[in-house]
Amino acid sequence: MELNKSLPSQLKLFNFAKKEISLSGLYQISDFPRITEIASNKKDNVRVELSFYLKNNKTPCVDGIIELGIVLACQRCLDDLSITLKVDFSLAFVRYEKQGEELDSYYEIYVTEEDELATLDLISDEILLSIPMVPTHDYDCIKEINGQEIVEEKSENPFAILKKIKIADGGKE
Ligand SMILES: [Zn+2]
Repeated sequence: MELNKSLPSQLKLFNFAKKEISLSGLYQISDFPRITEIASNKKDNVRVELSFYLKNNKTPCVDGIIELGIVLACQRCLDDLSITLKVDFSLAFVRYEKQGEELDSYYEIYVTEEDELATLDLISDEILLSIPMVPTHDYDCIKEINGQEIVEEKSENPFAILKKIKIADGGKE
């Protein structure tokens, strides 16, 4: 097994897998344009480890870990929201989707006809997949800022509707 100190800009999927290459690298968030768009801590580190291997003697796979702290805008209050990410993934690179069917279900199937993949793209994809679709604070952040307003908006009790349905239904049973 070869061990390299930094990541090349292109990953040679079959070649790396056949040689069972392991790579680790250190980036800044600003190295990833698609992450920089949504993160405000652009100078913080992104730590990446990738281990390539061949599955069933033919399918290039990679096990990876990406670690970073990211500061996003909370989609409820628009204030900073810090998330620590440790993205653990196993990818299998296949030419056709059908080729993925013979692999364990924990593999993410990556369909590509290319033999090379841009390292930054792969890492960006995995980070973006692991970020919640609508990142929000895990506490009621708007309520803390606006106090009463939210309480009034929610004054219509959703269970009141359920009750009406139950009554309408009641006669049948
Ligand atoms: Zn918030």
